[in-house]
Amino acid sequence: MTSATAHSNGESEPWPALGGVERQALRELLVHGPKSRAEIARQLGMSRASLTRVTRTLVDHGFVAEGAAELRGATGRPSELLHVRPDARSFLGIKLTGEDLFAVVTDLTAKPLASHEEPLRSKAVDDVVAQIGEVYDRLKPSHPDITAAGICLAGDIVDADGRQVVVESLFLGWYQVELAELVRGRLGIPVATENDVRSLTAAEHWFGVGAGFGSMALLTVGAGIGLGLVVDGKVLTGAHGKSARVDHQLVDPNGPPCGGHRGCVSSYLTNWSIVASLRTPGLDYEAVVDLARNGDYAAMAAFGDAGRALGVLVATVANTMDPEKIVITGEGIAVTELARAAMEAAIETHRHPTGAPITLDIQPFEFGEWARGGAVLAIRSCLQF
Ligand SMILES: [Zn+2]
Repeated sequence: MTSATAHSNGESEPWPALGGVERQALRELLVHGPKSRAEIARQLGMSRASLTRVTRTLVDHGFVAEGAAELRGATGRPSELLHVRPDARSFLGIKLTGEDLFAVVTDLTAKPLASHEEPLRSKAVDDVVAQIGEVYDRLKPSHPDITAAGICLAGDIVDADGRQVVVESLFLGWYQVELAELVRGRLGIPVATENDVRSLTAAEHWFGVGAGFGSMALLTVGAGIGLGLVVDGKVLTGAHGKSARVDHQLVDPNGPPCGGHRGCVSSYLTNWSIVASLRTPGLDYEAVVDLARNGDYAAMAAFGDAGRALGVLVATVANTMDPEKIVITGEGIAVTELARAAMEAAIETHRHPTGAPITLDIQPFEFGEWARGGAVLAIRSCLQF
């Protein structure tokens, strides 16, 4: 038995330099669950002899273990299954909003082990870096094997000559910030940064409802409207880090203002626009949800408009990319319950007449999911995906 636990001495070991095939095999097991050697060899198009070397490396690093035998195929011959060892390593995920810091520690399979949230003391870059450092110091004693961190936030983040740059984040008032490098300097472990919607899309694509799909779309509704796209198994970034910007798509030129123009998706579907349409001081989003559930006409009308805007978006996404699945989630997910009929009618009106059926997957949402997206970003970075 050559298996060595990655954290047998209770200290964090750096992520090892794995070869491309090792990383692919590990990803295969992470996304699709336990598999036999023969299956993985077939999937990766390699001989079983080569695969034996690959799995030995993964077993030696403590990432993978051999599981119980199961009977397979017509011959009924037993086949040893390889599976990921979830406790091989831990990862830190962070989500920054304009006001708060959400943190989660997960295992290698993105299962949350601990979470923490606190208000941001300030939006100054140095202060936020220091605060992330303090949160790490607080979580590390219970999770000494945290191997890498991923930070996600609303904004444009690009890879420029190997350096990840937050080009712009309106909520934080940041421009051209090399957050990953700054936080890496403080934590002493690899740090990746990514747009929050793309991080969440990747999390659903690896470990969630879209696991293993070649194509999927994820729509988030809430304070803002986000769209993440997976095409040919990859999360789409775009040439300038600005892919899938649909939040200001036009629904009705005579509609209410969003701040920039009239009648766009944001002017109907965001939580703030739903509240604003009631023109009643002192209401917040939760109150409007309650009003609509209790049959208040104005609140129901606001959600009806929001549902229509969502339907236009869903149909547009389906017409554009023909995904296997469209996931809808986010803190404004109540619209799918309160305005289901309006949403479905708009989908029917706007979808292509010969389009394929649309598979919708409406997911309940907890805010901690955003931070988990950060942890998945850290896992993907270690695997260089
Ligand atoms: Zn707009």
